[in-house]
Amino acid sequence: MALIVQKYGGTSVANTDKIKWVAEHVIRTKEKGHDVIAVVSAMAGETDRLIKLSRSIMDPPDERELDVITSSGEQVSAGLLALMIKSLGWDALSFQGHQIGILTDNSYSKAKIVKIDDKKIRNALLNGRIVVVAGFQGVDKEGNVTTLGRGGSDLTAVALAAVLKADACELYKDAVDGVYTTDPGICSSARKLKKISYEEMLEMSSLGSKVLQARAVEFAKKFKVPIHVRPTSRPDSEGTWVVEEEEAMAEMEDMVLSGVTCDKNQAKITVMQVPDRPGIAAKLFTPLGDEGIVVDIIVQNVSTEGYTDMTFTVPKTDFKKAIKKTEQVAKELGAKGVDSNDKIAKVSLVGLGMKTHSGVASRMFSALAQEGINIIMISTSEIKISCVIEEKYTELAVRTLHDAFNLGE
Ligand code: ADP
Ligand code: ASP
Ligand code: MG
Repeated sequence: MALIVQKYGGTSVANTDKIKWVAEHVIRTKEKGHDVIAVVSAMAGETDRLIKLSRSIMDPPDERELDVITSSGEQVSAGLLALMIKSLGWDALSFQGHQIGILTDNSYSKAKIVKIDDKKIRNALLNGRIVVVAGFQGVDKEGNVTTLGRGGSDLTAVALAAVLKADACELYKDAVDGVYTTDPGICSSARKLKKISYEEMLEMSSLGSKVLQARAVEFAKKFKVPIHVRPTSRPDSEGTWVVEEEEAMAEMEDMVLSGVTCDKNQAKITVMQVPDRPGIAAKLFTPLGDEGIVVDIIVQNVSTEGYTDMTFTVPKTDFKKAIKKTEQVAKELGAKGVDSNDKIAKVSLVGLGMKTHSGVASRMFSALAQEGINIIMISTSEIKISCVIEEKYTELAVRTLHDAFNLGE
């Protein structure tokens, strides 16, 4: 008998017919003699709806109350799934994050899990029950409801699998049957990967691929939880495994790249003619960090006559806050002014093979140039290359790069 954590995403629980499908699948696993914990997301579109509703009252909404509101989506789907399982004659028990002690810090909307108390879940399993957990939610030490960031039900599932030492952590999806070389919604020649390493998956998630939450992958990597991404409607399909580098490499053989990603949640800010002297960058970026704004790519121009331009990118969601802060600091530093643009996107290539193969960057730049796509900024790390481009070219750039590196083959 195994202990299996199954997570069902929003598209898999989008309506009661789909919830019935999920309930039957959970029951089939139970019938095989396994203990099952089913983690659920809010029904598709529900979290967006709740955020919009909140914004119609206060924009940006009060952070504490926003988490109270958005966490309700998962509460509903957990209750519905438990109800459906019971209606099919099996014993199920639903839990919200606070009921099973998913203790987090107090950073609303992006809370970090500090501890999970597994007693209640273990008891329910011992009593032969199917456990249903509302994903995405936790509670801080003061008892406030918190949420784990967009896509956070993935993290709930991985964290439970780690704490309970589950034999499997299966993330079920409906829109896709695994992880692809790029978003199949953008590129029809995208190919499903059998295996991908934690490192590559982490880069793909961080660089905009919405298929798995980056923090969940990070957690899985840290606690060595193998993730199996599978399609809800075809549970026998092999899906994609997210595993250790050695295991993934054996599968990928001589593949240099594993994928292309894009991220439209990007905006850039330029501080013009800022005095070029020690300590300026710290003065510029410390206030942004204090506000919790994550600065991504930073480019500093060559200085002329003691002045330089500094350009950096921030998430679009923090754009207004970042401009306000930057304008304040730019004034204090005696810079000429601040320029900004939120019609940009980042396209990236990801692959472990980049560690040992050269020429990937030049091929990427040539492919983009051939389509007349101008590169605004470039950033690289050991296993990725990113280019910031005009937002309107995003899809074209993804398809061009996917073709240029023959990733569909
Ligand atoms: P769920 O509802 O199960 O949480 P998501 O909507 O979060 O599923 O994730 C699936 C979506 O991710 C798909 O609609 C797909 O278009 C998109 N996607 C982006 N990049 C990839 C990729 N590399 N592989 C698979 N799907 C991807
Ligand atoms: N419902 C949340 C979201 O849409 C969490 C999740 O789906 O995993 O981001
Ligand atoms: Mg999701």
